Amino acid sequence: MSTPANHIHNRLRALAQNLWWTWHPEVIRLFTDLDAHLWRQLSHNPIAFLNQITPEQVEKRSAELVLHSRINYAFRRLNEYMEKRKTWGAVNCSNLHNRQVVYFSAEFGLHESIPIYSGGLGVLSGDHLKSASDLGIPLIGIGLLYHQGYFSQRLNKDGWQEEDYRDLDINTLPLQTVTEPNGQPLIVRVDTRSGSLQARVWQLQVGRVRLLLLDSNVEGNSVEDRELTSRLYGGDDKFRIRQELLLGIGGARILQALNNFPGVLHLNEGHSAFAILEEIRRVMEYEQIPFDRAHRRVSLYTVFTTHTPVPAGHDRFSSELVEEHLGIFREKLGLSHDDFMALGRVNPGDSSEPFCMTVLALKNSRRANGVSAIHADVSRRMWHPLWPERPEIEVPIGHITNGVHVLSWLAPQMHQLLETRLSQDWPTRMVHPDVWEKLDEIDDGELWETHQSLKMSLIRFVRRRLLLQAKRLGYREIVQQIEQILDPNVLTIGCARRFATYKRGDLILSQFERLEKLIGAARRPIQIVFAGKAHPRDDQGKRILQRIAKFSYNPEYMRRIVFIEDYDYNVARHLVQGVDVWLNNPRRPLEACGTSGQKAILNGCLTLSVLDGWWNEAYDGKNGFVIGDGGMHNDPNIQYQRDAESLYKVLEKEVIPCYYDRDTSGIPHRWVQRIKRSMQSLGWRFNADRMVKDYAEHFYLLAASATSVEIR
Ligand SMILES: *Cc1c(COP(=O)(O)O)cnc(C)c1O
Repeated sequence: MSTPANHIHNRLRALAQNLWWTWHPEVIRLFTDLDAHLWRQLSHNPIAFLNQITPEQVEKRSAELVLHSRINYAFRRLNEYMEKRKTWGAVNCSNLHNRQVVYFSAEFGLHESIPIYSGGLGVLSGDHLKSASDLGIPLIGIGLLYHQGYFSQRLNKDGWQEEDYRDLDINTLPLQTVTEPNGQPLIVRVDTRSGSLQARVWQLQVGRVRLLLLDSNVEGNSVEDRELTSRLYGGDDKFRIRQELLLGIGGARILQALNNFPGVLHLNEGHSAFAILEEIRRVMEYEQIPFDRAHRRVSLYTVFTTHTPVPAGHDRFSSELVEEHLGIFREKLGLSHDDFMALGRVNPGDSSEPFCMTVLALKNSRRANGVSAIHADVSRRMWHPLWPERPEIEVPIGHITNGVHVLSWLAPQMHQLLETRLSQDWPTRMVHPDVWEKLDEIDDGELWETHQSLKMSLIRFVRRRLLLQAKRLGYREIVQQIEQILDPNVLTIGCARRFATYKRGDLILSQFERLEKLIGAARRPIQIVFAGKAHPRDDQGKRILQRIAKFSYNPEYMRRIVFIEDYDYNVARHLVQGVDVWLNNPRRPLEACGTSGQKAILNGCLTLSVLDGWWNEAYDGKNGFVIGDGGMHNDPNIQYQRDAESLYKVLEKEVIPCYYDRDTSGIPHRWVQRIKRSMQSLGWRFNADRMVKDYAEHFYLLAASATSVEIR
């Protein structure tokens, strides 16, 4: 029965079923207005929320708050968005029409309520889907549905990281079962010499883009195989190769089952590279052509993005593992074991060389790229042996620098300011520098006030989270003084990242007396908010984290050094929206790109970073701050000392004086000028719309032109 109460509840449900809501603050506000406490308690999950609140309650609250028209309006906007025909993609990429881009990634970070990502790679894939949706590029994502996500992080009293794995409640995610044309749930199968793997398939709607997720937790799989899609990056080599078989081969088979063949294959990182082989097999069968011809064809419409500047970071599998898992498949391709192994070897003749997923992808793609200019340099050097006859500069790896999905990371208050001061339609024109020029017209005081209010929300968030942490650990001093933790008038540095050793999360602690002076200063002090997870098996990373945590528990420093547990999409969003300075100090050149600083600059934070990844091509002398001079030393310890020295010097001589240089009403004009310069010079470049347009114009159109009608 359709009562008015059901009607409004159903509209909210419809909004909850498409992740479009995650980048539309006006929809999020509907949920917070209905019940802010419940919304927070349920990790901002609208389906869980609507399961707990009856249509009658929604109706009552909506009537009190006059929400009906807002709900109807949001619903209409979603429908308009879904039905829009004249998108950027339709106009500029008509060749992609009927030639869909299939985008593979081992993780997708879309929102905190869907924890199927671990960090930067996942968030990048999620942002890619969202921008492809906004631009109207025909793209479909393929990934894995992890039942336990990555892990939840808790620190013990000693500051040591403990991992907690919790099962997701699938019923509270906006998932739909993918079915075969006959209505049965689709099951894909991959045969190996040690049993066949099966998976069911879920669909997640991300605006106009569909994301298909494989799930191995099905009847018919062995107990171990059911676990394949339980956690990200868990297990040994055997676990990983099975996971990657599922992603690459299983993923490609989903499309076949749906009669939906790729126009372009885009492999985001090497994990999914087996998809190339399955596509070759399909073309061989479909066209009745031999391996070599099918292989050449498929390479023409495959593109590959590499993300890893460290040689050890690339997946490699032994000859035995490959034969066990791909032997049956190899026979279908008509290849000998050696010929098959050669597909993943730098030196095909070297029988001791393992099978490398990145090599497979690099050798078999039309275009390949790193994710920043400096990362492409590193990648060309690393993979030069694959093209020994060419000079290094001609190794075919270019770059498309990463960007972030602006509306997912921009604070609503900042959005509003830009909307009134730049133009109503700035989000659709953000890749044009002239749109950002108008920032000059914003009054310094107004921009500063907006920033300060965001900083206050961050501080409230930090105190809320810290109170829970301190109560759990029994840190009474923190509980008692929670209102004194972090001061909105103090220069606030954000430092959140994976605690991988090369990221050097503790660099700022390295000369402690110097830091102590900075945080304890009576005039012009600083404070630091840390967050980040270490990989469960990375004890060195955990030790770095522990060092920071111990300072944050120390009554002497706790007001100025805090560590927020369980870094995720939500924590990242609060941090990048509210700190003054975003600190990034990896060991050059090991940061492929880094995207968190890009999220921060959109919100009026300034970047303080080593000249690595994106910052190496972004810094112009006035739009932020820089650590070091771009020099690199072979000895990591010497590099560490030098960068630490530079970090303190820049803080003492540039950042702090500039921040505290105020006029009589307390406004730091020089600082605000820098913020404007940063947003103007960087906003139009380091966003995901620009990134996806680059992929479309330079990769997808070219690759799609190779997909002839016959083979599809
Ligand atoms: C953006 C983001 C990252 C990536 O940050 P880097 O700058 O690459 O270190 C990692 N984790 C989360 C939760 C993020 O939101």
